[in-house]
Amino acid sequence: MQRVALHAAMQRVALQGRHLLSFSPSRFLSSHHMSTDAQAAIARLRDSGLLKSKGLVGGKWVDSYDGKTVQVQNPATGDVIANVPCMGKRETDDAISSAYNTFYSWSKRTASERSKCLRKWYDLIVSHKEDLALLITLEQGKPLKEALGEVSYGAAFIEFFAEEAKRIYGDIIPPTSSDRRLFVLKQPVGVVGAITPWNFPLAMITRKVGPALACGCTVIVKPSEYTPLTALAAADLALQAGIPPGALNVVMGNAPDIGDSLLQSTQVRKITFTGSTAVGKKLMAGSANTVKKVSLELGGNAPCIVFDDADLDVAVKGSLAAKFRNSGQTCVCANRILVQEGIYDEFANALTKAVQNLQVGNGLVEGVVQGPLINEAAVEKVEKFVNDATSKGANVILGGKRHSLGMTFYEPTILGNVNSEMLVSREEVFGPVAPLLPFKTEEEAIKIANDTNAGLAAYIFTKSIPRSWRVSEALEYGLVGVNEGLISTEVAPFGGAKQSGLGREGSKYGIDEYLELKYVCMGNLEA
Ligand code: NAP
Repeated sequence: MQRVALHAAMQRVALQGRHLLSFSPSRFLSSHHMSTDAQAAIARLRDSGLLKSKGLVGGKWVDSYDGKTVQVQNPATGDVIANVPCMGKRETDDAISSAYNTFYSWSKRTASERSKCLRKWYDLIVSHKEDLALLITLEQGKPLKEALGEVSYGAAFIEFFAEEAKRIYGDIIPPTSSDRRLFVLKQPVGVVGAITPWNFPLAMITRKVGPALACGCTVIVKPSEYTPLTALAAADLALQAGIPPGALNVVMGNAPDIGDSLLQSTQVRKITFTGSTAVGKKLMAGSANTVKKVSLELGGNAPCIVFDDADLDVAVKGSLAAKFRNSGQTCVCANRILVQEGIYDEFANALTKAVQNLQVGNGLVEGVVQGPLINEAAVEKVEKFVNDATSKGANVILGGKRHSLGMTFYEPTILGNVNSEMLVSREEVFGPVAPLLPFKTEEEAIKIANDTNAGLAAYIFTKSIPRSWRVSEALEYGLVGVNEGLISTEVAPFGGAKQSGLGREGSKYGIDEYLELKYVCMGNLEA
């Protein structure tokens, strides 16, 4: 009990630190204690060599230079799963040098050679999918089945970009005078710093590293302090696949120090970030000094609009998937469910029945579909949003409180009669809370949906084809799901409008983020 309280207190301090964008040393008071439960869970790994507890710099597994470590905990139990190095500026500087020195040789390899390495990496990820999924569930909390889904999704980016590596075509431009020939070459941007969040410990990395390596860039990955183990295991498989030492480095620990090192280096030519809008803005500002190319995948505030003419079953199934995946902790999770008056009661009842069936628990337990939230501060945020909504007139249809399992489990929740003034509609709740906002007309729904600085994903449910087009075009979002709650795929461009980010990941467009265009003019050809 005492340990749980200490754990909760440490998490609170850590999250306060995160909000201040500053380093919180209290989380880094390391204990090398690993409970017997954690040991038993780790023993389920088929390839125990995948559990790495060192960073990867220049192809070598290294500790932090001052010997400090940081705990990785299982959010479902509070158990310490591993201690990983708490790295900072010096380790990151070395990783940058290594990536810089490797860039020349890696980018000079033929596209086909790079493609083969990536393909092999893909094959290794797939053949180790159970182990990777286990690590994801242990450090992130999502149910094992969902973690397996993430491994397939994450691996797909490596496969897709292994193929795209061979299709980075330039252009020949018709010249403006007969003695000139004009060409456009596409070349890798150089060393890339990739900073990723905890909610998809594998996929947010492969979405960046796949295209970067495919076109010849080299990378320093900084995974979240909460989920470094999946990143390290994936990097180990990359080495086994023949991706050369130095082409892929992994550092973790003191995020602001690592970030500063990446931002200040003139050798790092690109920052690619997935995470909160607050940190994204900071990285964008920090990139200005060295004028780096920047890609940002930031927070959302997804509207999910259910019209009177929707197919009720499709709308319930889609909203459930869009809202409750990863216990509501995805950037594309439905944050506001707008329901037209004529279908409101029927939809609320049907959704309630569906949500009542969601089994909450440790993601390793068969049948569990809702894991814990990532930490105590995440639960406190959900509590604050729910209290704010109910104090302003919303009613709790289901849940609305911490789960009896304790730890960071929260009951899957539905709130009725929510309006746009409530916190739950204005900000990303990032938890298992479905707020229902009644509306009257299509125009009103579009206005409410667009009334936010975020612009990542939106969903609409309607059987009308004209309405599908009208509303899809009117929504100020980067992704729109029509009668679909799960729309992410490696073959389509993923990214946001407004303050949800810059650039796109996945698809044929995703590789452009790692390329520079070079115009070559050959003149005096008739001389
Ligand atoms: P976060 O707090 O912004 O952290 C993201 C990453 O940035 C972590 O690796 C974190 O390191 C690092 N970081 C924090 N402060 C930093 C600094 N000053 N300099 C450099 N790096 C720093 O976000 P999160 O809580 O992990 O993730 C949740 C957020 O990600 C949500 O807003 C969600 O919407 C967004 N997200 C967006 C997408 C998308 O594609 N648009 C996808 C997934 C998630 P530490 O963890 O080590 O502190």
